[in-house]
Amino acid sequence: MSAGPDGAPSPADGGLFRDGGENGRLMAAFDWAGSPVGPVAGWPASLRHAVRTVLASRFPMILAWGAGYTQFYNDAYATLIGAKHPAAIGADLRVTLAEGWAALQGPVEHAMTAREASWIPQLLLLLERAGYREETYFTVSHAPAYGDDGRVAGMHAVCTEVTRQVLAERRQRLLHDVATAAGQQLGDEAATVREMTAALAGDPLDVPVAAVYLNTPDEPGLRRAAAIGCDPQALPESLSGDGRLAAAVAGLGLPGGPWGDPVTEAVVLPLSGGAGADRVGVLLVGVNPNRALDAEYRTFHELLAGQFAGAVGNARAYAAQRSRAEALAELDRAKTTFFANVSHELRTPLTLLMAPIADALADAGPGLPAGVRDQLTLALRNGHRLQRLVNDLLEFVSIEAGRASAVRVETDLAAFTAELAGVLRAATERAGLRLTVECPPLGRPAFVDPRMWEKIVLNLVANAVKYTFVGGIDVSLRAAGDAVVLEVADTGVGIPAAELPQLFERFHRVAGSPARSREGTGLGLALVRELVTLHGGSVRVDSEPGVGSTFTVTVPLGAPDAPAEGPATPSDAARGAAVTPWDDELDWSAAPPGPPAGAPRPVVLVVDDNADMRAYLRRLLSPEWTVRTADDGVPALASIAEMRPDVVLTDVMMPGLDGFGLLRALRTDPATREIPVVMLTARAGQEAAVEGFDAGVDDYLAKPFQSAELVARLRSVLGRGTRRAPGVPLPPPAPPAGPASGPVATPPRPRAPVTVGEPPAPSAPPRTVTGHWRLPSAGSSVPALRRRLRALFADAGLDDDRAYDLVLATCEAATNAIEHAQDPTEPFIDVAAEVVGGRVEIAVRDYGRWRERVASMDRGRGSMLMSAIGDITATPSPAGTTVVIRSR
Ligand code: ADP
Repeated sequence: MSAGPDGAPSPADGGLFRDGGENGRLMAAFDWAGSPVGPVAGWPASLRHAVRTVLASRFPMILAWGAGYTQFYNDAYATLIGAKHPAAIGADLRVTLAEGWAALQGPVEHAMTAREASWIPQLLLLLERAGYREETYFTVSHAPAYGDDGRVAGMHAVCTEVTRQVLAERRQRLLHDVATAAGQQLGDEAATVREMTAALAGDPLDVPVAAVYLNTPDEPGLRRAAAIGCDPQALPESLSGDGRLAAAVAGLGLPGGPWGDPVTEAVVLPLSGGAGADRVGVLLVGVNPNRALDAEYRTFHELLAGQFAGAVGNARAYAAQRSRAEALAELDRAKTTFFANVSHELRTPLTLLMAPIADALADAGPGLPAGVRDQLTLALRNGHRLQRLVNDLLEFVSIEAGRASAVRVETDLAAFTAELAGVLRAATERAGLRLTVECPPLGRPAFVDPRMWEKIVLNLVANAVKYTFVGGIDVSLRAAGDAVVLEVADTGVGIPAAELPQLFERFHRVAGSPARSREGTGLGLALVRELVTLHGGSVRVDSEPGVGSTFTVTVPLGAPDAPAEGPATPSDAARGAAVTPWDDELDWSAAPPGPPAGAPRPVVLVVDDNADMRAYLRRLLSPEWTVRTADDGVPALASIAEMRPDVVLTDVMMPGLDGFGLLRALRTDPATREIPVVMLTARAGQEAAVEGFDAGVDDYLAKPFQSAELVARLRSVLGRGTRRAPGVPLPPPAPPAGPASGPVATPPRPRAPVTVGEPPAPSAPPRTVTGHWRLPSAGSSVPALRRRLRALFADAGLDDDRAYDLVLATCEAATNAIEHAQDPTEPFIDVAAEVVGGRVEIAVRDYGRWRERVASMDRGRGSMLMSAIGDITATPSPAGTTVVIRSR
């Protein structure tokens, strides 16, 4: 031994290992005498020198000396060989690195025999330094080491480990290739997954075997979608859980890693489409048998799984979007066909309606009383509008079916366009807008189909008027090369950028876009595009919300398909287009008779954006009420602020503030909260009704309505709002409606409750109030009813406890009416409440047959509750059941 018992360097080594750090101490303590190089004292100067060089270096260095390849290495090198240290000190290099010697032998021997240093970047080396056969990479240089005699006596190697770098680059490359594969097959989930899995085969070291399992809409569990690195049949075709999957890989005995070692481990990664999204499948990846499943390897797996999950998610979203788009397109086609069929059916009766009216006006017009003439004119005008919509639809369908083609004739396009734009001049000016038309002669002939050109110009100009509130519209026409360019520019509301791509699609309308009228079909621009296309031209739009829109039509000057039959002039239909829904051409205000002098009459405020409808309602209601009008919610509020009406009758759909907006505004202001509101809705059915009642509307009527019914409802609402003296009867019930009265016909009102019970306490007699409500027969009506009852009882001055009990009992009765009424002939329940002199009577009526005999009213929690609060009678009839609660 050349060291003392405490391991301190003995004088025998001459301090050779003194500065060699930990390894220096180990080497000083080593029994060199038992090694091929013998005791330190006998070492030649060249060996001592070489050892000193190795130990002094902070770069990993090793020296193999003599025929026995005896090893000397420093601390930095020791870390590279892991568990082989310190046994490697003084041992034979060929033995220590036996597993990697096949790769090392060549360069080492070459350096020694050729006296030439090697340089091997990223040398793959098999190392068993961590308890398994590890794939490692080193950048190495081997150089000869010389003895005292100048002959090669050994080998010096300097090396650095680059395993992490090599693996990172390789995995990064694979992730990139997988991502590229994912991008190729957008929309086809199966092909995407196949391509991506095939890309995994590009890195068999990191991914010796892989498979993807995905869920399917048709079956539970997961189904194999793709596999590489093994015979796919060797893996299960479907999975219910994924527990067995990793184990199945171990059983396959597949070769992996650089040396074909068996793949014994695999990981199964969930494929989930993002936070909160469901798992779409799993990715199975075999683990390289020569790499530890460390944090970096796991991260790589997660990134892979993320790519698969993302691609599957995208493919599914894309497919869903595509099928949605297809469904919508299909719906549009069905809608078009349906409308086309209906339109055909409408044409004949429409003509038969309009012709006699037109004849009557023509023959007897001047002799007719003013009111009748105006009514007929109104009917005719709206008949024309309906006809226009029908014609647009039919035209669209015929173009779409390929039945229409443009018959181009020579046209003085400048004069014709100017004349067409002029058709709308009056309407434009009435709307307070400027119209400039700049159509100088083109100087050469243009060939278009005049009827089609007419539609193009009128649609664009009418839209411009419809969607412009201030400023004006500029129409211009000019030649540009072989084409002619029509521009219709407005200073209107503009169109949001997101809407532009779909603007020319049929039925597309910009939601919430302010307009002079909501009337329209969303067909106008689609028709323009079709007509322009038939001329071999194109149409585009530039628009900025709040600034305006410019529609530009470019059509080739063209060639004639037929000789012209004279100069083109606007058709009658075009002249009809001059009549627009917002157009207040007829002075209806003059028509209705004024109120009799000195008789104060209730004031009805009619709010509707359609001038004809306003005029019609004015005529209808004027005999009984003072009618004021507003064309939108905002002016209505201004009008109410100026002078409070007794009732507001409002349309729901209006371009600015709609009916519900108006209602909300009225209900939130204490000054207007009490004003009764009746809505006219075009959306028949319970949904609209519930919406209306929940918002606190007093009554509603679906269009088309019968005038008598509207008058009756208004009377009822006005009567309800007025506190009447005791003894004044309830408003008369509306007449029962026959089955043909439309979707929301008036059913018979519950019979007027008969007052019974004790007289009120003389001290604080509750006031007399009544309420009638019609509610959809749905659970959601109960809260609305509760609100109304509470308000009514508060109004009557009923004490809180009594009011509470009565609300409870009535809601119980209403719930029964909603739940028990089978096959109701009307989808409503009617509730009538009356407080007269402190006595309360409430009637709840439904329109169905009860499942159970009514006698069962005597049983059950609900009826017990009601009985505790009042006297209950239930009167069944084939037309429905009426339950009356009389408060004791
Ligand atoms: P419609 O007017 O019957 O709704 P169109 O096909 O003519 O149908 O127009 C489609 C939609 O494009 C309209 O609903 C409207 O929102 C928008 N639009 C058309 N022209 C204009 C315009 N000049 N300014 C602003 N929006 C417009």
